[in-house]
Amino acid sequence: MFTYNPKSHFLNNKVILVTGAGDGIGKEAALSYARFGATVILLGKTVKKLEAVYDQIIKDGGAEPAIVPLDLAGATPSHYAGLAGSIEQQFSRLDGLLHNASILRDLGPFIHITQEDWQAVMQVNVTSQFNLTQALLPLLKKPKSSSLIFTTSSVGLKARAYWGAYAISKFATQGMMELLADEYDNSGIKINCINPGGTRTSMRAKAYPAEDNSLLKTPADIMSYYLYLMDADNCVEHGNTLHAQA
Ligand code: NAP
Repeated sequence: MFTYNPKSHFLNNKVILVTGAGDGIGKEAALSYARFGATVILLGKTVKKLEAVYDQIIKDGGAEPAIVPLDLAGATPSHYAGLAGSIEQQFSRLDGLLHNASILRDLGPFIHITQEDWQAVMQVNVTSQFNLTQALLPLLKKPKSSSLIFTTSSVGLKARAYWGAYAISKFATQGMMELLADEYDNSGIKINCINPGGTRTSMRAKAYPAEDNSLLKTPADIMSYYLYLMDADNCVEHGNTLHAQA
């Protein structure tokens, strides 16, 4: 597995927003970025979980994070515009955005995907990323270099039966990343996708309830690519999909 050992404070003075920062991989990414010096904006649905991450960052001696409680299922373009305004006011720029939050909903045959599941998955996994990216691109353009990371999945690169709306949403994510990378070629914004691979989280447990999860990598085990892709000054990737467990 790829390992990345950047300088201990390579994210000093960088402002990084992580979606789904309260749990699973997003929580670990937020803690890791803070550990390397970043001021992290913790966006997520469950305030208690965000507060626990906030407390952990402070306990670890990190820069004071910001908490953004936002349910991506109900958020509208005006919420994202408001968020962009607040970040502009407080930090005047953004150095990194990790799109990590996603939902799975029920897995099963295509013909049984309900309207409700389809709408919910597309809203949280695709539309929210579209809106958040549109709102935050002007701030990501401000620093000399910045990083925009999307999260995909193996089933969003080669579809697999019964993975339903989730798999289709990840193809859309991949498309959004590729389109943006082409539009922002040579712009200073590094735009890539990361595929975590099977990782010990609640989402994985929902998809594979019977597996022995002690055999899976933990979010902490797969942080190297999350750090590397966020290191916009040194990362040479743009428009690519990196596999954290390759
Ligand atoms: P997870 O443990 O289920 O965590 C998902 C995070 O997203 C949680 O913090 C959750 O917040 C947040 N979230 C969900 N719905 C939201 C909403 N409506 N509004 C705001 N935040 C919301 O998932 P994970 O396994 O860490 O997955 C992280 C990313 O990796 C996802 O994009 C997933 O598709 C991808 N991925 C994971 C695996 C794997 O094996 N784990 C494999 C391939 C790809 P709450 O806890 O407050 O609901």
